[in-house]
Amino acid sequence: MTTTITSEKKQLKQGMLDNVMRQFNNAADIIELNKNIRKILEVTNNEFIVHFPVRMDNGEVEIFTGYRVQHNNALGPYKGGLRYHPTVDIDAARALAMWMTWKTSLAGLPYGGAKGGIQLDPTKYSQDELQRITRRFTYALGDNIGPELDIPAPDVNTNAQTMAWILDTYMSTKSPNERSKNLHVVTGKPIGAGGSEGRDRATGYGVFLTIKFWAENKKVDLKNKRFIVQGFGNVGYWAAHFLEKEGAILTAVQDAYGSIYNEDGISTEKLLEYVQANKGSVLGFSGANTMDSADFFGLDCDICIPAALGNQITVENAPKIKARLIAEGANGPTDVKAEEILLKRGVDIIPDILCNSGGVIGSYFEWLQNRNGEIWHLDEVLEKLEKKMRESFGKVVHKAKSKKVDMRTAAFIIAIERLEETYVQRGIFP
Ligand code: GLU
Repeated sequence: MTTTITSEKKQLKQGMLDNVMRQFNNAADIIELNKNIRKILEVTNNEFIVHFPVRMDNGEVEIFTGYRVQHNNALGPYKGGLRYHPTVDIDAARALAMWMTWKTSLAGLPYGGAKGGIQLDPTKYSQDELQRITRRFTYALGDNIGPELDIPAPDVNTNAQTMAWILDTYMSTKSPNERSKNLHVVTGKPIGAGGSEGRDRATGYGVFLTIKFWAENKKVDLKNKRFIVQGFGNVGYWAAHFLEKEGAILTAVQDAYGSIYNEDGISTEKLLEYVQANKGSVLGFSGANTMDSADFFGLDCDICIPAALGNQITVENAPKIKARLIAEGANGPTDVKAEEILLKRGVDIIPDILCNSGGVIGSYFEWLQNRNGEIWHLDEVLEKLEKKMRESFGKVVHKAKSKKVDMRTAAFIIAIERLEETYVQRGIFP
């Protein structure tokens, strides 16, 4: 039993790193990227693995392993989330850190890419334990993170509360006079702890915006279009919320516990209420029926939003997908082979580094406010977010046309070209 779980986990990990490298190499080949710059971008700059002890509620001490991988900082401080999940390990952190580099570069932000987290199943720990784990992890990372060096943010199974604990722990290690200068060591904080209006919905809103831009482009009316969402966390919920407001109909949701379906539509607000009261699970929601998870991606719908983990759309389920559009709310949800099948079948894919970039753009706005002592209104944040995402979307569509490539390859080309320009201009020390 243990062996099966381990080998499944291994497949997922290797898949993600393999996936991001193939995506990178494909774009690098097309633009004939300078071979020295390719060598730099193929590897990560720094990798931290920390082991630290934490006292559990029952008095026992458990040792945890945390990761932070800093892929590249040519464009600015390292930036990216921290994830708490059993699949977190060094290869997963490497893959996700690389995606962050391409994502921030494509978005035109002054950031590099990083990612990290802890290999654990958060459902097995109390809030008090999670707080102590988070604080000890922050302490173990020490000054390897910092407001102008490497800025973590929420990711799978971490949230604003996690960021508030990190901020408080990091600040506590600084002298009183330095403390308030460190507010931007993490983004995605609660508003009271220096967070920004709109950061909570930034990723999901961004996913919705890219779908809206796609629809404008293809002259598709989103009203009454049916969509399915994998993952009903922060990304999945907000994406569904905004799509529903536009008149689209949510017909199925899958999470870590199972899948639910209702042809006539699932109310996103009622489902959120239910999930919050039901320990985070969609199962048992009275407004839908339970369905076999194996059939989820094959459901008849117009738009499919994978907003959970990597490598979910594979050669097994890709041929069955009926959606016309896949909007990648998650990082790396479609593997390279599955993508080939889908593109051949004429399915459009809005790639993760574009589709879910609203999150890190929202983080950038929070970081700027903290740095400048400003507080922006929600409308202002959402307006700025829309402007930035429209710009990136336009660039990707334009590049896809001019290079005759799919949207992912176009997005990678834009991201890599920006980094190439930086390296060419600066040269390599010494
Ligand atoms: N975890 C999010 C992502 O994968 C947000 C990262 C950030 O805001 O730094 O893009």
